[in-house]
Amino acid sequence: MTFRSTPRALAATTATLFALAGVTACSTDGTPAGADPDRVDVVAGFYPLQFLAERIGGDAVAVTNLARPGAEPHDLELNPRQVGQISEASLVVFLHGFQPAVDEAVEQNAGDRAFDVATVQPLLDATAGGHDHDHEGEEHAEEHADGGGSDGAKDPHVWLDPTRLATIGDQLAERLGTVDPDRAGEYTARAGALRTALEELDAEFTEGLKTCQRREIVVSHTAFGYLAQKYQLEQIAVTGLSPEDEPSAQRLAAAIEEARAHQATTIFFETLVSPKVAETIAREVGAQTAVLDPIEGLSTENGADYLSVMRTNLQTLRTALSCS
Ligand SMILES: [Zn+2]
Ligand SMILES: [Zn+2]
Repeated sequence: MTFRSTPRALAATTATLFALAGVTACSTDGTPAGADPDRVDVVAGFYPLQFLAERIGGDAVAVTNLARPGAEPHDLELNPRQVGQISEASLVVFLHGFQPAVDEAVEQNAGDRAFDVATVQPLLDATAGGHDHDHEGEEHAEEHADGGGSDGAKDPHVWLDPTRLATIGDQLAERLGTVDPDRAGEYTARAGALRTALEELDAEFTEGLKTCQRREIVVSHTAFGYLAQKYQLEQIAVTGLSPEDEPSAQRLAAAIEEARAHQATTIFFETLVSPKVAETIAREVGAQTAVLDPIEGLSTENGADYLSVMRTNLQTLRTALSCS
C-alpha cells in the first residue's frame, strides 16, 4: 500500500489509530489488549471463563472474550481477527464441546497453549440432573422433555455449579503459573480468594433451596443440569443442550404437560434467548415467566458479574419454588 504521507494525512492516520486504540482498550491505561509486554495475553471462549481468568489473573493478565457481550455464545462464529488472537495468545481458556468454532480454531491454531476446562473434572452426562419418571396414574411412555442427551453426549454447562468453578479456578491458576512462573504465587492466592467467594455462594444456595414446596424448574434449554444436580432440583427443559428458538411441537407439548403435572408457577426464560417459548408455556398453564440466567454471557454492562447474577438466580428460584 502506498500513499503520500502529507502532514495532514499522517495526522488523520494517527488520530484514527488513537481512536481504534480507545475502542479496543481492555486495560485501564488505554493500552490495547495484546500490546502490553508486561501482561499475559489470555483469550477466553465466553463469559464465565473470562470471569475466572480476570479474577485469578488480576493485573497480570489481559483477557479477551471471544463472545460479544449480549450474544448467545454456543453458536459463536469466529472472524479472522479472532482466529489471530487465538494464534497469538499466551493462553486460550475454552470448554471443549460448548463452542464448536472455538474447538476447531484451538485445535488448528493454539497448539499447547490451550487450557480446556472440560478436562478438569469429568463432565456430567447430558441427561444428568434431568427429569425422568412416571406421573401418578398417567401414561408416560413418551420421551420426557428433558431430552437432548444421547450417544454419551456430555453437558458442558459446568460453571453453574460454583464448587466445580472453584476447582477449575485452582487448575487455571496452576496453568497460569507455568505460563508466567514469576507470578505463580499471585495466581494461587487469587484463586484461593475466589474459591472462598464461590464456596460462600454455594452455601447460600444450599441453605436457600433446602426447604421448598416444589423442586422442578421448567427452563428453555438444557443448561441447568449442574445446578440441578448440586441443589437437588429437577430440570424440565424445552430444548436440548443448545438454545433453539423453535422447539418441536412435541417438545413444547411435553413441557406444558410437565409444567401442569408439577404445578409450576413460573416458567423460566434466558436473557440471551427469545422469551417466546416460555411465554407460550406460561400462557397455556397460567404461570408467570421469570429470568433464570445460565450466565453464558452477561446481558448488560451494569457491573453485574458471575457472583451477582447467581445471587439473583437464587432469589428468583426461592420465589418460584416457594422456598422458606
Ligand atoms: Zn447452553
Ligand atoms: Zn414430570
